[in-house]
This record gives sequence, C-alpha cells and structure tokens, in this order.
Amino acid sequence: MRIQLLPSTFDARGVATLEQRLTCFVIDDCVAVDAGSIAIALSNEQRVTVRDIIVTHPHLDHIASLPIFIDDLYPTLKQPMRVHATPEVIDLLERDVFNWNVYPRFSELTNNYGPVMEYVPIPAGTPFKVAHLSVIAVPVNHIVPTIGLVVSDGQTSVAFSSDTAETEEFWKIVNEMKGLDALLIESSFPNRLAKLADVSRHFTPASLGQELKKLNHNGLDIMAVHLKPSYRDEIIQQLNALNIPKLSVMEPGRVYEW
Ligand SMILES: [Zn+2]
Ligand SMILES: [Zn+2]
Repeated sequence: MRIQLLPSTFDARGVATLEQRLTCFVIDDCVAVDAGSIAIALSNEQRVTVRDIIVTHPHLDHIASLPIFIDDLYPTLKQPMRVHATPEVIDLLERDVFNWNVYPRFSELTNNYGPVMEYVPIPAGTPFKVAHLSVIAVPVNHIVPTIGLVVSDGQTSVAFSSDTAETEEFWKIVNEMKGLDALLIESSFPNRLAKLADVSRHFTPASLGQELKKLNHNGLDIMAVHLKPSYRDEIIQQLNALNIPKLSVMEPGRVYEW
C-alpha cells in the first residue's frame, strides 16, 4: 500500500515544505483520507484517479480545499466524487460548507455525465469497501464527531488516528487486527501546551507516549502527523526523547510503501 501525506505549502521555487498545515493522505493514488490540501497538491495523474474521499471530521484543516477540488473537476467528472463520512459529518458538511453560502451544494448538481458529488454514509462498527480497500471506522476522542480508520488492502493494514486525545475503542480495533504495518497518529502540540492539547482534544508527545502503551503490535512503523507548524521543532525533539522504536515524523510529499 502506497501512502502519501500531501504537502500543504510550497516555497518560492515550488518545492514542498515540511510543515503540515492541512491534512490529506492519498492511498494508492485513488483514495484520499481527508481533503485539506487535495486541490493544492495532487499530481495531475492523481487528479484523474482520486474519486473516493473519506472525511474523518469537518475541521477546516481536513476539508479546506475539498469544495475547490470538486469545483475544479466539475466539467470533467464522469462519475461523482464519492465523499465517505459518518451521517453526522455529512450533515455538518451540508449545513456549514456546501450550503449555497460558503459554496454550492454540489450533491444536488450534475454535469453532462451525471451527478458530480455523492455522499456515502459510513456504517458504524462494520467494515466497508472503498475502492479496493477494506476500511473499519471507529469514533475517537475529538471535539467534533471524528473517526479513526484501519485500512487494509488484503495484504497490508494501516491505522489512521485522525485528530484525537486519549481513546479506547480505536486501540481495541487496532489490536484486533491480525497484523498492522503502520500507524499514523497525531501529535499536535508540545508538552508545555498540554492544557491546550487537552481542551482541543489532541496529543502532545508526552500524552502520545502514554497512549502508545495501549498498542499491542510490535515492530510496525509509527508515523507522527499533524504537528502544528509553529511548534514543529520542539515537538520533534520531544518525540525523539520518547525513544520509541520506529517512531518518526511523516514527511509531506514523500511516498511511503508498506
Ligand atoms: Zn480536528
Ligand atoms: Zn486537524
């Protein structure tokens, strides 16, 4: 399984920077997990092949350029863009984003080929298919309805925490997997901002270190993501100090293969 964390910003020469401001992972060039930078950083080839987007929660850093992406592709979509989300999140997207004020309600619009956007409600607790992937969604502990994911292609399995503070159900599903190749987990704030992390339901390296004690798998890659750019260096130092084997910070733009 190939996974890329899309870059959020580029320097003056167009080279991707390492800071992560937005969240969008692309799996095997066809499925996106969240859509923060989807309209900004997909390759031209990926713009043709990505037609399934799983939205873990409606925070702007996870959906910022989703409306722009559908707008961009509007005349060329020969099949609708499928937005997979829980019913609560679909309601919030319809109410707060695709509401004719912030942007058009694309789910009601068609082009020459048919509908351009379709919501696919995510069932709670049961695996579902997205393209060639089997996915299990599980609620995590964030300030809006949010899901973590375990994604498998039949050979490889990868877990995505999305935005969360300490949680139990996610680890139950993760630990039940027969094998797990990688865990992509958030680490948003440095340890000195533990209070802020707490009220906004995010991890610091210290609370992440505690949380990882709930993980029963060994030897997998643990990729820290969602480091707030203002504190990036400090968070990285504190993550390194945890001395957890195979824990590293995921690099935007790089393609990882498991
Ligand atoms: Zn969030
Ligand atoms: Zn976020």
